[in-house]
Amino acid sequence: MSEDGTIRELDGQTVERIAAGEVVERPASVVKELVENSLDADASRVAVAVESGGKDGIRVSDDGIGMTEAEVRKAVQEHTTSKISDIEDLEAGVTTLGFRGEALHAIGAVSRLTVETRPRGGDRGTRLRVEGGEVTTVEPTGCPEGTTIEIEDLFFNVPARRKYLKQDGTEFAHVNDLVTSYALANPEVAVSLEHDGRETFATTGQGDLQSAVLSVYGRDVAKGMVAVDPGERGDGDDETDDLPEGPLDGVAGLVSHPETNRASREYVTTYVNGRYVRSATVRDAVVSAYGNQLAPDRYPFVVLDLSLPADTVDVNVHPRKMEVRFADAEGVAEQVRAAVEDALLREGLIRSSAPRG
Ligand code: ADP
Ligand code: MG
Repeated sequence: MSEDGTIRELDGQTVERIAAGEVVERPASVVKELVENSLDADASRVAVAVESGGKDGIRVSDDGIGMTEAEVRKAVQEHTTSKISDIEDLEAGVTTLGFRGEALHAIGAVSRLTVETRPRGGDRGTRLRVEGGEVTTVEPTGCPEGTTIEIEDLFFNVPARRKYLKQDGTEFAHVNDLVTSYALANPEVAVSLEHDGRETFATTGQGDLQSAVLSVYGRDVAKGMVAVDPGERGDGDDETDDLPEGPLDGVAGLVSHPETNRASREYVTTYVNGRYVRSATVRDAVVSAYGNQLAPDRYPFVVLDLSLPADTVDVNVHPRKMEVRFADAEGVAEQVRAAVEDALLREGLIRSSAPRG
């Protein structure tokens, strides 16, 4: 404790743990990074299992491209990524979920982390263990193709952080929220979630959003969902609702019947170019499309993916990458509102409001 006001240089280990804390806030942030890595690795199956809300254990297993021994040794170092090589790649727009090359390193700095991985077509696997930032084991192992990463004792060496974790149920709710959003964004990937040995949900990976919604939210919610797909219906057909001019190239997904709503925003799941984001702009635009069919502070079930040119949206706003900044937020909001409103009108679920300009 420096109470005399002396300015000191922090030691490397302290700096590292502080930096790791920026990426890893709670179990759900670990899950997010690992699931994104699995999706970036072309997995068709991602299985997530957590113990005690993730506080005692997190395991993410995939059938993706895997890593060689040399690759996995590199992957746990600081600022190592196979996804971009320089700032120009970043400026050109990233298509992978990860790109900072800091997640595995950061997670390893504040936990005990084990990676078991085998490249596709590779004849052997590697098991690598990191404890509090130190690589303690690298050995050959028999394992299936793909990658399994297991985290034990998150924040064992950052007791202050550990103390601030919430009850298991609360931490698990964040994990569930996260895994759900990735399952819905990737209906072609079989995503499963398990808590303390019990399955929470499992999608089939069959590829259609409707069945992913069914697996995740159940039949009552899934049956009343309405498709939002401007421009995709009949060419020249009178029923075609074209997306008004604006920054978005497309808005696609499902929104619920107005009566299927909750007092929580967490069922409004939005993506930008397939990337899960939280955006008050988009959420408010969706809600406004329902008009007075939705009571104040009630939210519909929504799964919407917005597509727009990568250079008109900044996903690099925050280290946890959940926020986005649109070059033209008002234009985005207007198009989203119009697309959702058209879908609801088409199904007769709202009445026509004042005509749009
Ligand atoms: P980033 O995702 O930003 O590249 P990470 O620290 O999350 O950084 O991962 C570092 C690297 O490790 C990745 O670029 C990738 O090459 C490799 N990697 C991580 N997870 C997996 C996985 N599940 N399957 C294959 N490779 C992986
Ligand atoms: Mg990553």
